[in-house]
Amino acid sequence: MVRVEGAGVHADDFQIAGFERFSTVDWPTKLVATVFAQGCPWRCTYCHNIGMQAMRTEGVLPWSTVAAHLADRVGQLDGVVFSGGEPTRQAALIPAMQEAVALGFEVGLHSAGAYPGRLREALRYSDWLGLDIKAMPQGYEDITGSRASGAKAWESLAIAVAWGGDLEVRLTVDPTHHTRDDVWSVVRRVQAMGGPRPVLQEARPDGTSEDYQRALGRLRLRDVMTERDHLELAIR
Ligand code: SF4
Repeated sequence: MVRVEGAGVHADDFQIAGFERFSTVDWPTKLVATVFAQGCPWRCTYCHNIGMQAMRTEGVLPWSTVAAHLADRVGQLDGVVFSGGEPTRQAALIPAMQEAVALGFEVGLHSAGAYPGRLREALRYSDWLGLDIKAMPQGYEDITGSRASGAKAWESLAIAVAWGGDLEVRLTVDPTHHTRDDVWSVVRRVQAMGGPRPVLQEARPDGTSEDYQRALGRLRLRDVMTERDHLELAIR
């Protein structure tokens, strides 16, 4: 097995909340295995991975188990996706990515951009990034509960655009928060920065808090965006 270490941080330090051995949905057009990192500094109202938010919770399986499975799947999977939680929270993401690269896999990354510095480092080992942009900067705190989150996310977008690799920007449309103008403001600003046209995602009630489920009720993306918007924007 390949072992990569750097700056005193080991892939074995990676706290893993879950491991999907085979996925066709986490990286468009790729067959991948997906590693879910434990911990996220934000508390998004619509988060459906609430169990992965806690930052002091230990992982449920060691990286060595993931790495052994990956070594068995060389040639059968296209890549490995690091998701979460917020994978860039952990320094151990970097040696884990290095191991995946050394095994010959393509590497995908899901991030909300909470740690721009680590994102920049992680992009050195990434072939694809799915970056969540949740709102205009001033709209972030109401969604994430973190005052600094908007500045960090948009800084991360600038880093991702400068990186120049395969970037997908995703915007979860929250009908309890976003207006149609909010959504179009984000779409236009992302594109003005040189990013791709964001893909819109539904805020789904499954796995979210009871408070959010009550607030969301029957509201859906179609209640925010028009039919014409649906034709112009990719929706997942
Ligand atoms: S950034 Fe993602 S994982 Fe973190 S709280 Fe928000 S939706 Fe959940």
